[in-house]
Amino acid sequence: MESINLLKECEGAQSIVISGHVRPDGDCVGSCMAAYLYLKKAMPSADIKVCIEKPASVFGCIKDFELIDSSFSVEAPVDVMIALDCEKSRLGEAEEIFKLAKKTINIDHHISNEHGCGDINYVIPSASSTSELIYDVMDKSYMDMDIAKAVYIGIVHDTGVFKYSNTSPKTLRIAAELIEYGFDFPSIIDETFYEKTFVQNQILGRALLESIMFMDGKCIVSYVNQSTLDFYNATPTDLEGIVNQLRIIKGVECAIFMYQVGNLEYKVSLRSCKYVDVSKVASYFGGGGHVRAAGCTMNGTFHDVINNISGQIEKQMKEYVTE
Ligand code: AMP
Ligand code: MN
Ligand code: MN
Repeated sequence: MESINLLKECEGAQSIVISGHVRPDGDCVGSCMAAYLYLKKAMPSADIKVCIEKPASVFGCIKDFELIDSSFSVEAPVDVMIALDCEKSRLGEAEEIFKLAKKTINIDHHISNEHGCGDINYVIPSASSTSELIYDVMDKSYMDMDIAKAVYIGIVHDTGVFKYSNTSPKTLRIAAELIEYGFDFPSIIDETFYEKTFVQNQILGRALLESIMFMDGKCIVSYVNQSTLDFYNATPTDLEGIVNQLRIIKGVECAIFMYQVGNLEYKVSLRSCKYVDVSKVASYFGGGGHVRAAGCTMNGTFHDVINNISGQIEKQMKEYVTE
């Protein structure tokens, strides 16, 4: 897919809304804010807004974070709607704004979002992050430290600090260009990625204690239900990173972490190390993602969910062994 020029695509627009997926992660927040800061600078008279669910407070270090509109109060239709890091069905409340917009742009890196859902699409599954793609589509003459920092945060989060297999030489070259802007990157990495509150660590500990290995130790699963979240007065954003901790247990190929989002309803996170394509597994259950990191929402008890998922993982493992 050919690259686009974001500024050109927005030319003449009076109203622009930028949005990303529900339960926004670092890449979603980073790419939305980078696009926002960039367009605001290049088109100062346009009315530009970021509409996403309330992100974790650690992202408060990004400029204009406090201007994020989580009430989705937009007078539709807007001239341009930019959907980042997802396709339209994961926009949540912003999907309505997308449907009514005069022009839509979709920038994403999910392999499950094959063709893109906008009038204009830039979807590159091999890219580390949507933030990396935002950097691609920007006219670098507008770059500054605040924009660079937002892009950097997005890349750091989706690559697990440049360590997942989605990190490419290009990712690192872009990161090198970004840190030239002089922001305090070691603090950003610590404060937005590694640092966990006491409560977050306690829930992590519990999830690890209660985890179960299966398929000869090649898979591991753990979950947190609503009563545990209530007990710790925690929210789903406090669960970020648990699945990654499960994945790095010796011998594990596939890690599954789930938390309750409703009665008999779970948000499922899947990660793999070398050969299981978790995007395929998640897509089978109506979700999506990437080869090594994917997610979906499933109905049933914890045991129903794990039975169904493990069936799909087992199928791939058998194919892998017989290959
Ligand atoms: P998570 O496990 O929620 O951290 O998600 C892992 C990756 O899969 C991220 O890139 C998500 O954006 C993506 N993902 C999670 N849930 C879904 C879904 N329901 N549909 C498509 N992609 C998803
Ligand atoms: Mn994301
Ligand atoms: Mn992403």
